[in-house]
Amino acid sequence: MQILITKNGIKIWLSMDKITFKDGKWIVPDQPVILYTDGDGIGPEIMDVARKVVDAAVKKAYKNKKINWKEILVGDKALKEKNDRFPQESQDAINEYRVLLKAPLGTPIGTGFKSINVRIRVMLDLYSNIRPVSYMAGLESPLKHPENVNLTIFRENTDDLYMGIEWKYDSPEAGEIRDFLRNKFDINLGDDTGIGIKPMSKYKTQRITRAAAKFAIENHKKEITIMHKGNVMKYTEGAFREWAYETLENEFGDYISKDDSKKILVNDIIADNMFQQIITRPENYEVILAPNIDGDYISDAAGALIGNIGTLGGANVGDDAGMFEAVHGTAPKYTGKNIADPLGLIRGAQLMLKYMNWYEAQGIIEQAIGKSIETKKVTNDLAKFFNVKPLGTKEFGDSLVEIIEKL
Ligand code: NAP
Repeated sequence: MQILITKNGIKIWLSMDKITFKDGKWIVPDQPVILYTDGDGIGPEIMDVARKVVDAAVKKAYKNKKINWKEILVGDKALKEKNDRFPQESQDAINEYRVLLKAPLGTPIGTGFKSINVRIRVMLDLYSNIRPVSYMAGLESPLKHPENVNLTIFRENTDDLYMGIEWKYDSPEAGEIRDFLRNKFDINLGDDTGIGIKPMSKYKTQRITRAAAKFAIENHKKEITIMHKGNVMKYTEGAFREWAYETLENEFGDYISKDDSKKILVNDIIADNMFQQIITRPENYEVILAPNIDGDYISDAAGALIGNIGTLGGANVGDDAGMFEAVHGTAPKYTGKNIADPLGLIRGAQLMLKYMNWYEAQGIIEQAIGKSIETKKVTNDLAKFFNVKPLGTKEFGDSLVEIIEKL
């Protein structure tokens, strides 16, 4: 939709519509509708701050641009108001608008409903989970040289054990599968064995590999590391390694090679070793390409290296959609206390602005965060490192907006 406004006697048409996609590229009108959901736990508090900070930065950076936020109900709030955690109308809006800033959503362990985070990833086919991790001066890291941590994790987001193909040990399905394995392959599993299936496909490996390769090339990275446990899981994680190498060699051979002959070096590393390597030699890793489960674990471990996962954001991106979030969860113990750090969600929103090509606004937020840290205006999680009185979640947000307005 377009609207006509008059500014200083000049008539200007402004586009107020949804973001669309062509060949993987984002086409962003000046006033796009972007969905948000408050999430559970600390979600509403940090979302309020994140949207205010983004709005202030966009206003500072551009004359005509503005985000038209549209709320969708998901999680506890949706259950309360609509008696459904993921109402059809929210699903329809996600399918239509395709770009979402999402606060954390709670998921029960071992029982209960299926993760809505995972359902959204599947609905929009958000196959790349991208988590940049770099050190922020002032944080108390367990490393001697945390400033060496500057890596980006590309985690496959749609394949692997996260597909949730599993059966409880005492279900008829688990019984049937055990019988099948026994009769057909002479594999004997006890009757108390639960069953999970680990699927991994060439197609899904290839597309996450392409995303990581394009990122590495565009951002002048020198190294890509394929993480896997292919020595044990030969036909899933081992195949991931093989298909990733094959894709890089066949499609990006001008830039990437296994030796030093090209600009980007590709190597691979077994998952357990990856964990010790990012602690002992973080400077050696720039882009880590990982299957879904490995990527999940290594993301939090990498986050811990910089001292605080509360300050990390992540992007879930496909060919024609994106969902942006904090890496952390609902932090239930801080709910409603005006204590939580909103930086993780703000970082997620910065990634969204990058995908929108609104680099100026994202840069303004980066500057504001830098100034805030410099002047030790921080929330409780960081204040303890700086030995200062913390700002509440809301007050921290107000302070960031004030800094942005004065830039
Ligand atoms: P969590 O919510 O990330 O919280 C773990 C700890 O991290 C907190 O106790 C707190 O540590 C710190 N923390 C996290 N976010 C913070 C923030 N914004 N400000 C300050 N400190 C923060 O992890 P969890 O307790 O394992 O998970 C709780 C729920 O969140 C679960 O239902 C889980 O399924 C869900 N979850 C959702 C997502 C998502 O929506 N993408 C991601 C992960 C987890 P201290 O105790 O040291 O202060």
